[in-house]
Amino acid sequence: MKKTFALLLALLAGSAAQAATPWQQITHPVAGSPQSIGSFSNGCIVGASALPLQSENYQVMRTEQRRYFGHPDLVRFIERLSQQVRGQGLGTVLVGDMGMAAGGRFSSGHASHQTGLDVDIFLQLPQTRWTSAQLSRPQALDLVAVNGKRVIPSLWKPEIGTLIKTAAEDSEVTRIFVNPAIKQQLCLDAGPDRGWLNKVRPWFAHRAHMHVRLRCPADSLECQEQAPPPPGDGCGAELQSWFLPPPPGSKAPGKSTPPPPPPSCQALLDKHLL
Ligand SMILES: [Zn+2]
Repeated sequence: MKKTFALLLALLAGSAAQAATPWQQITHPVAGSPQSIGSFSNGCIVGASALPLQSENYQVMRTEQRRYFGHPDLVRFIERLSQQVRGQGLGTVLVGDMGMAAGGRFSSGHASHQTGLDVDIFLQLPQTRWTSAQLSRPQALDLVAVNGKRVIPSLWKPEIGTLIKTAAEDSEVTRIFVNPAIKQQLCLDAGPDRGWLNKVRPWFAHRAHMHVRLRCPADSLECQEQAPPPPGDGCGAELQSWFLPPPPGSKAPGKSTPPPPPPSCQALLDKHLL
């Protein structure tokens, strides 16, 4: 994706993400066999599971927001990843936003996470488990220098690279978004084994967390897959373009209205919000 277009999308997403949405009113998963419906930034989910809040391998942040629902594939992925990571002695995985009980658009934060296939994971792996006070007011660790061009050497830890690589090597993961400076560090650190870097995509923000996206489950017939990333490790010209000033003439668009939900998601809203 061209950077200017990406910026436009990010700005659109940001302005659309502020209003309250009807999806917040659905507080429990919609019964049915699990189905992710629509696209990551305009969709919903039937038959979501709650991530178990107690685990010895991960901890869940800001549980009062009730954004810990997802497709069972996502729940299993988080369990699998955190087991692999903690099994190597790297620390405890800190889980941020997944999706709401029926998916849909958040009132704040971000426009994706709508189909129960996205999760934010902090780029820090505490050796000592966080207290409930820390979990409810998590301190994000900004790994990127002020100029946005590199990670802060004293904060960057090899185990963070291992965390991202382990997630990228999971066959159900389709994309991982991190700040361009973090992607660049991964490019520098990687040896000859670079295939996994293809899934790690540079994106705005994401200085303290990675956003992991799973592919559409095979039996979710209304789930819209994204086109795969371009081939290669993505460490070349495309990555470098993120460090250049925006081209002249690229300006912020006005406030936009989110698109209407897919018909199956609208039907679900109509049924549950009477
Ligand atoms: Zn995210």
